[in-house]
Amino acid sequence: MQSDAPDGLGWIDYTMARRSVLGDLACGRVSRTEVCDCHPELMRVARYQGEPAETECPVCHSDANVTVTFAFGDRLARRNGRMIPPQEIEAYVAVPGVSCYTVEVCTDCSWNHLLRSHGAVTLTHDAGAVTRILKAAEPSRDTD
Ligand SMILES: [Zn+2]
Repeated sequence: MQSDAPDGLGWIDYTMARRSVLGDLACGRVSRTEVCDCHPELMRVARYQGEPAETECPVCHSDANVTVTFAFGDRLARRNGRMIPPQEIEAYVAVPGVSCYTVEVCTDCSWNHLLRSHGAVTLTHDAGAVTRILKAAEPSRDTD
């Protein structure tokens, strides 16, 4: 579902894809292992820098459900693929070619799902999307 915020900032909401994955889990089409497969780097960022999510984890019902937002774009240079505060999304996507992705992560059970994307580039969601986002960022990420 694509939408525009009142300020004209384009974004895509992945609520329906999330609901579909949870439905598949509930009726056994996918295993808990398949949906609770958080990449170790994403888990590390979520554990130490995640913002509390609006809802509990949909899989294990833990309150350890957080959101993290990443910004991607060649023009970000060394900041490409870095976590950003959610209140800076608008400033980042004002830069041509920059996109931001907000991901939900449960630090108890490793559930993770893309919630929203903002900006120029869109991403077709599937179960491995978050992992691919992180892998795409790794070559340009420094280690500090
Ligand atoms: Zn959980």
